[in-house]
Amino acid sequence: MENHRATVAEIDLSAFRHNLTSIRSLLAPKVQIMAVVKADGYGHGAIPCAKAAVEAGADWLGAAILQEGVELRENGVTAPILVMGGVFPNEVEELIRHDLSTSVNTLPLARLLNQHAEKQGKMVGVHLKVDTGMGRLGMAPEELLSFVEQIQLMKNLRMEGIFTHLSSADEPDPEFTELQFTRLLHALTALKAKGIALPLIHTANSAAILTVADSHLNMVRPGIILYGALPSPDLKPTIEAMKAHDVSFHPVMSWKSKIIQINTLPAGSPLSYNRQFTTERESQIATLPIGYGDGLIRALSNNMDVLIRGQRAPQVGTICMDLTLIDVTDIEGVELEDEAVLIGTQGEATITVDDMAEQCGTISYEILCNVSKRVPRVYFP
Ligand SMILES: *Cc1c(COP(=O)(O)O)cnc(C)c1O
Repeated sequence: MENHRATVAEIDLSAFRHNLTSIRSLLAPKVQIMAVVKADGYGHGAIPCAKAAVEAGADWLGAAILQEGVELRENGVTAPILVMGGVFPNEVEELIRHDLSTSVNTLPLARLLNQHAEKQGKMVGVHLKVDTGMGRLGMAPEELLSFVEQIQLMKNLRMEGIFTHLSSADEPDPEFTELQFTRLLHALTALKAKGIALPLIHTANSAAILTVADSHLNMVRPGIILYGALPSPDLKPTIEAMKAHDVSFHPVMSWKSKIIQINTLPAGSPLSYNRQFTTERESQIATLPIGYGDGLIRALSNNMDVLIRGQRAPQVGTICMDLTLIDVTDIEGVELEDEAVLIGTQGEATITVDDMAEQCGTISYEILCNVSKRVPRVYFP
């Protein structure tokens, strides 16, 4: 094994495959799964996650941008890949060269894709993006029919899918999700009325997969639950209830470091930049070689715990770029090089990424994506 830094993100690929299998168990037969591995697999490493997803039965992979799709291809991933965020004109040639599919929502882009595909003697797969309420990417639902009629004339385009993205599927009130869904179905009815064969239709992100079975259609696009984190704290009860039906999601990333120094300091000792914490008693303060340069969000300063010897140690003082302090006064027998768990389980204690997100007012996604490239990912197959 290579000599890793003391601060690592351990990635449990068997948990990842388990989560994909759990998703599969929630779907009707024949519903396809597009495993979303954008943003370097939500910080877990896109290539190992993509390979694990395919191994566990994912049909498609979802990237956000061209470079992510190319990276997968260059590392031997042959599964169908959708560049969900679409492409700019100058990216079209490379997209086609790597046999990637793209989201498309304007006719000029569709024409350009068709031209370049013809030049390369290939077909290019497109998924038509319909905006049903995000106000972000996609054509209006009313435009879908005429768009499809136009692109049917483009010989080198293969209409592989039609999709939309839901803005609010993680909320307890389903009203807006239902509205988005209705808008899409309405547009599809217009296609059916013209006898147009429907391709893959996909809407469901993690939250919708868990809560709105109607949204599954014939493909789903899970991201965050593949990595064992919650789309939102509101979904915690939903996931808890699934355990009774043997459906579970396991955290994939554990974020760990080790104690590099222990200081015994008298009461009244100020700690770290700008003295944002002062000891109130004689204290044992342990230093960890992890900081915001590793993606540990500085807003967590004086507002998070770290696990040491199976117990929670409060983080104290401002989180620095490379170093962080924890108060281990109340923990027996702490030694240099003791393991410190920022996210994960140690003994009986667990801190989830969802816990950490809640502590600093963000979502699990941001914490995971933020783990910087200075942190080695260590894979467990
Ligand atoms: C990121 C993304 C997903 C996955 O969302 P999760 O909430 O992580 O499941 C699905 N579809 C699109 C278009 C996305 O951008």
